[in-house]
Amino acid sequence: MEFCQKCGGIIMLKEGKAACASCGARINKKLKIEAGEKITQHRTVAIINEDAENIYPVVDMICPKCKNKKAYFWTTQTRASDESETKFYKCVKCKHTWRKYR
Ligand SMILES: [Zn+2]
Repeated sequence: MEFCQKCGGIIMLKEGKAACASCGARINKKLKIEAGEKITQHRTVAIINEDAENIYPVVDMICPKCKNKKAYFWTTQTRASDESETKFYKCVKCKHTWRKYR
């Protein structure tokens, strides 16, 4: 049996946590983990960030709209394997987006 360091009261388990029955002080000491405790499975959820400014690299490319020389760059691959990938650019200045085929 455990006793409270503050008031000497009996330590009771309440909702899985140890606390003094008389003064209510929480005890951090690890008590026995109750048998049959289920292991919670964690699902990994992939978060796709569509904010181009945060994920795409900036390359030297002249914007056809405002003639700015820097643009974000990314590529996409179409499902058909015989098709070539498409290059995308987004102007860092005016946010104009355009693409180029190989
Ligand atoms: Zn631009």
